[in-house]
Amino acid sequence: MAKGNIGVTTENIFPVIKKFLYSEHDIFIREIVSNAVDATQKLKTLANKGELKGEAGDLTVHVKLDKEAGTLTVSDRGIGMTEEEIDKYINQIAFSGATDFLEQYKEDANAIIGHFGLGFYSSFMVSKKVEIVTKSWKEGSKAVKWSCDGSPEFDIEESDKADRGTDIIMYLDDDCKEFLEEYKVSELLRKYCHFLAIPIAFGKKKDWKDGKQIELEEDNIINETNPIWTKKPADLKDEDYKNFYRDLYPMSDEPLFWIHLNVDYPFNLTGVLYFPKIKSNMDLQKNKIQLYCNQVFVTDSVEGIVPDFMTLLHGVIDSPDIPLNVSRSYLQGDKNVKKISGYISKKVSDRLASIFKNDRADFEAKWDDLKIFIHYGMLSEEDFYGRANKFALLKDTEGKFYTYEEYKTLIEANQTDKDGNLVYLYANNKDDQFAYIEAAEAKGYSVLLMDGQLDSALLGMFEQKFEKSRFVRVDSDIVDNLIKKDDNESKVNEDDKKTLTEAFKEKMPTIDKTEFQFDVKALGETAAPLIITQSEYMRRMKDMAKIQPGMAFYGEMPDTMNVVLNSDHKLIKQILSDSKAEASDSVARQLIDLALLQNGLLKGEALNNFVKRSIELI
Ligand code: ADP
Repeated sequence: MAKGNIGVTTENIFPVIKKFLYSEHDIFIREIVSNAVDATQKLKTLANKGELKGEAGDLTVHVKLDKEAGTLTVSDRGIGMTEEEIDKYINQIAFSGATDFLEQYKEDANAIIGHFGLGFYSSFMVSKKVEIVTKSWKEGSKAVKWSCDGSPEFDIEESDKADRGTDIIMYLDDDCKEFLEEYKVSELLRKYCHFLAIPIAFGKKKDWKDGKQIELEEDNIINETNPIWTKKPADLKDEDYKNFYRDLYPMSDEPLFWIHLNVDYPFNLTGVLYFPKIKSNMDLQKNKIQLYCNQVFVTDSVEGIVPDFMTLLHGVIDSPDIPLNVSRSYLQGDKNVKKISGYISKKVSDRLASIFKNDRADFEAKWDDLKIFIHYGMLSEEDFYGRANKFALLKDTEGKFYTYEEYKTLIEANQTDKDGNLVYLYANNKDDQFAYIEAAEAKGYSVLLMDGQLDSALLGMFEQKFEKSRFVRVDSDIVDNLIKKDDNESKVNEDDKKTLTEAFKEKMPTIDKTEFQFDVKALGETAAPLIITQSEYMRRMKDMAKIQPGMAFYGEMPDTMNVVLNSDHKLIKQILSDSKAEASDSVARQLIDLALLQNGLLKGEALNNFVKRSIELI
C-alpha cells in the first residue's frame, strides 16, 4: 500500500468542502452519478471510434445501498482510471481531466458532460471515508483502490476488480444516514438524475403479488435517457408534450400550450417551455422551470437566466453555454445569459403571436389564463411590450375581446372628451359596479373589465403608452361627468343646494374611515336620485399605497366619497319642497341607505336600521 498527500495548497480542503462548497449537500449525488455517466459516454465515444478492444457491453450505471456497511455505491462500466490517472485527476484537485479528453476528441465534445469543478470531492460532504475502486479500459491496466478518510492523506493499493469501470464507495457520515434510506435516494435521483443520458439503475423493479411487494429480475431504471427536448419537434406529437408535462408536474392541470426551444447559434440551447393553467393565485409559483446542462440537472431557480416574467412558466431549459459555477450576480451580467434571455423572450412572443393569428378563438378562450404572463411581461420588459401590444387583448364587461388598436377604433367616436382625450371606462367588478356599468352603457359607452391582479399597474402603463388617453372607473363620477363633452352644466339654485345638502348630511350614518362630500346636480328625471362615487385619483393612490410602502400615508387617509343628489328626480324635489316633514325624513334615509347598499357600504347597525325601516314602510 502506498500513501500520499492530496495536492492542494490549502492545509485541508475537506472542512471547506463540508461547510462551504455547496449549500445543498444533496448535490453530491448529481456529481458522482454524472461523473459515472461522463466516464461511460467517454467509453462510448472510444467504442464508436473503434479504439476499444472487445465489447462495450451493458453500460447501465448502478446505484446501490448497503445498510449494514453504511455505504452508498455508484458503479459504472465507463473508461475507469489507471493509477497515474487517479494521481492526475483525483490527487491533484485543481486538475480537471475533462480538459485533456476534450482536447483529444474535440468534435465529440458535445456528448461529454461539462465539468462541475470539484465534483468528485463533493462526496466528502456526506462521507467519513470514500473509496474509488477502478480499472481502466486500456489494455493491460491494473485495477486500483484509492481510499481517503477526509484527511489530506490518501492510500492507494492494488485491487482484484476484474471488470472495466469504477465503483465510488461512500461510507456515510453518522449524521448523513438519511442517504441510506431508499425513499431519500430515490427522491434525489429523481431530482438530479431524471434525464441523464445513460441508464441509471437503482435496485430492482417492484410489483405487487398476493398483497405483498416482490422484487422482479429487471433493473429499476430511474431516468429517461432521451427526454423530448433532445428530439426534433417534427418527430413529436401533442400527446408527447403533454405526457412529458405530466411527468414533470404530476399535480398540475394540462398546460395551455408549449414552446419547443432549439438554438445552436450563437449559443446552444434546447428546451420546452409550458404555459401552465393557473387555477388560483396560489399556483403562481416561480421556480418551476428546470435548468439542465447536457441533461444534468443544475437548478430550478432560473432568475437571472430567463426574463423575470417567464419564471412563471414551467418546463425545461438545457444549455451547455450557461456558466454554472458562478454567483448569480455574475450570471446576470454574463453576455451569453443576456442573449439567452432575450432569445427566449422573443420565442415566447412569436409563439403567442402565431396562435393569435392562426386561431384567435383559441387564443381568446385561453386569454384569462394567459394574461398574467403577458401583462407581467409587458410591464417589465419594453421589448416584450413592443411585440405583445399587437396581440394582447382587452375584454369588455360583456366578455368581448379587442386588440388595443381595435378597441381604440371602437370607442374613438363616442368616448373622446372635450379636450380630445380618449376616455377608457372600466369596471373591476361586474356585480359591485353593476348600476354604474348599466348607466354608462345606456349612454352608448363601452366598459372594460379590468379585474386581473396586475390591472392597476397596467392602467398606469396604458396611460403612458396610449396617446392622449385616460382610464376612468365607471363609479368614479356620475355618468355625465365620466366623459365631459362640454362645459355647460345645468345650474342648481344655491339655496336649494344648501337645503338639500343639510337635509341629507345629518342622516348619513357614520362609517369608519369614510368621509362624504355632498353636491347637488340636475341630472335629469330618469337618472338615479342619489349617486355615490369615489374619485379615480384618490382611489388609485389608495390602491397603490397597499402595495408600495412609501405611500402608506395615502393608505391612512379616510376614503372620500362623493354623494351627488339629483335635483331633477321627483323624490329629491319632494324632499326639497318639504324638508321638515317626517315623510321626507324617512325617504331621505331610505335613499341614502339604498345608495350605500349598492356600493357595499351599508353594514352592521346601519344595515339593521335600514331593514327595520323598510319593513315599517311596507
Ligand atoms: P470534473 O468532473 O469536473 O473533471 P471531478 O472532481 O468530478 O471533476 O472529477 C475529476 C476527474 O476524475 C474527472 O475529470 C475524471 O477524469 C475522473 N473521474 C471521476 N469520476 C470518474 C469515473 N467514475 N470514472 C472515470 N473517471 C472519473
